[in-house]
Amino acid sequence: MSEKECLFCKIISGDIPSNKVYEDDSLFAFYDIDPKAPEHILIVPKKHISRIDELEEEDIELVGKIIFAAKKIAQEKNVKESSYRLVFNNGVLAGQAVFHIHLHLLAGRRMHWPPG
Ligand code: AMP
Ligand code: ZN
Repeated sequence: MSEKECLFCKIISGDIPSNKVYEDDSLFAFYDIDPKAPEHILIVPKKHISRIDELEEEDIELVGKIIFAAKKIAQEKNVKESSYRLVFNNGVLAGQAVFHIHLHLLAGRRMHWPPG
């Protein structure tokens, strides 16, 4: 899917509304529209990268920023002490539905392992 048609690119640009949690030069975070846990936030790079497989070496710092933002958001939402899960789905069989990479931050309930 091209950047022009990408749902998350449209959310980042504000063309599609979202419930924003965090934004900086390279990242955007917002509440998932169909939460799978009491707290379910998506952290996305502003750069359109369709899937983890498409990452380049130049993106390594960006991925670090995504995970660091998740840590900060977890602190702000007070879910740090009660545990949280971070998930990247890569590919349809892994559950990826939106092809613009996003880190799921899930919290507020007991998580199961292995995931379904
Ligand atoms: P994934 O299945 O890993 O690709 O995750 C995509 C996530 O995007 C799902 O959890 C959806 O509920 C969520 N989602 C889809 N459309 C929207 C939207 N307009 N605003 C916020 N979250 C969305
Ligand atoms: Zn995109």
